[in-house]
Amino acid sequence: MPSEPESGTENDTPFIHKFRTDKFHYIYDINSNRVFQVNRQVYELADRPDLRSPELICGHFPEFDADEASAAINELDEAAEKGWLSTHRPRTLAYRPGTTLQDMLDSSPYEQLILNVTESCNLRCSYCIYSGNYEGQRTHSDRVMTFDTAREALDRFMEQAIATVHISFYGGEPLSRFDLIEQVIEYTQRSYPDKKVHWTLTTNAVMMTERIAHYLMEQKVLLTVSLDGPQAVTDRHRKDASGHGVFTRVMRSLEMLRHADPKTYDETLQFSVVCAPPFDFEETERFFNEHELTRNHRYSFSYMNSTTENPELKPSNDNIERLNGELAVCRKHYLDGLIETGPDGEETIDFARSLYEKDFSDFYHRSKTPLGDEMYPNGCCIPGARRLFVSTDGCLHVCEKLDNVYPIGTVGTWVDSEKIERMYEEYLAMSRDCTSCWACRLCSLCFFNFIARGAFSAEHRASECRYVRRRWDRVLRDYFTLLEKDEHLFDHLAELRRT
Ligand code: SF4
Ligand code: SF4
Ligand code: SF4
Repeated sequence: MPSEPESGTENDTPFIHKFRTDKFHYIYDINSNRVFQVNRQVYELADRPDLRSPELICGHFPEFDADEASAAINELDEAAEKGWLSTHRPRTLAYRPGTTLQDMLDSSPYEQLILNVTESCNLRCSYCIYSGNYEGQRTHSDRVMTFDTAREALDRFMEQAIATVHISFYGGEPLSRFDLIEQVIEYTQRSYPDKKVHWTLTTNAVMMTERIAHYLMEQKVLLTVSLDGPQAVTDRHRKDASGHGVFTRVMRSLEMLRHADPKTYDETLQFSVVCAPPFDFEETERFFNEHELTRNHRYSFSYMNSTTENPELKPSNDNIERLNGELAVCRKHYLDGLIETGPDGEETIDFARSLYEKDFSDFYHRSKTPLGDEMYPNGCCIPGARRLFVSTDGCLHVCEKLDNVYPIGTVGTWVDSEKIERMYEEYLAMSRDCTSCWACRLCSLCFFNFIARGAFSAEHRASECRYVRRRWDRVLRDYFTLLEKDEHLFDHLAELRRT
């Protein structure tokens, strides 16, 4: 394998990543964003430009004969003539060339407004980033958003918004401000009748009542309910202020919602699942796939934020080993299911599919435009464009995941492009090696992934990057193993839009 060179260094090694399945050898060519199946000789020689004569090759690889060596050299020369296996690497990371951040902000209408209606929460989940276990993060507080702040944010947002927008309620626990939520919905519908608004709300669901359930279903609010799995798994970390697990109450709330409008419930409700030590992944998968209130929904899955120093939240090596084993089983369920049903198989949403399909879909829909000298920074959004998060005191942030750091303006003064420039420069200064990273066209890491203890952290970034490269190496191996079995297996992904 080629070693990963430092950014900006001259490099005469093709910009490629090599991987193998059980049957074949492959080269992922980063410049063309294509994957080639090759024979063993080409595979070994692709990143050895120093070996370009049969004598040198046979001296280095005694198992190759001179004919094989010559054939491999020819193949590599032909690939080079077509522009493949190029040594080119981008020189810099940059947003769209030839434009300024201010121009981009001015030409990017808003699509989503996230209102942090309260910093208070009725629960005390152990892994909560507001628990006090995370340095640099805010803690639970009684601060709430006023209607005036919400209205001012909405009015500014709507001035520059597209016709169909998302308005989201976030917390703390947003249902503790149900009065404000109702006020905002009614004000928006009265003041902006021509806009189509999709309402979304992330909730622990414990404060649900019949009246709230009916209202939310009637307004078609897209709910994301936090639930980590069956009772033993959920109650381990998700507790109220008295230390009691909340599973039973969440399930009762789900019943209320389904009873209020079974169709909307089935079509729109999603679950946010946090995986935390000691990990019971198999149980979690079974629960979400089998329980009548949770099966066949969308699941967003994340790992507990690992930047805490709290020893109780640090997984042991045994925990991690067990999790990896259980994840491997889950992945196998998904891959076996794909092979069994084939490309025309019945579309079901199960937990494993939610976890693994997006990577395949992202890879399927990847751009084949050759890499230029400037590269867009991975999964980063343009801060301040399209989406805004408003904290309880009216500060603007990039999104709910950066709700406590790098403020980018206030509701009164609106978006401050200088603040965004400073944040962006700090991010870029830390990310120069992206231009020589083999995963640069697949990676979706963004500002949020590199925050630890309230600021960008090179150390945290390094561990995220290692994880991303390992994950994509595995995705590539899985993807091509499956294609070897059925070349049309991913045809159905053509229908899925890249998210
Ligand atoms: S429900 Fe959410 S905000 Fe409240 S304590 Fe749990 S993780 Fe934190
Ligand atoms: S998660 Fe990252 S890319 Fe997405 S909005 Fe937040 S900062 Fe931007
Ligand atoms: S993994 Fe992503 S963020 Fe990390 S160096 Fe590679 S492209 Fe950059």
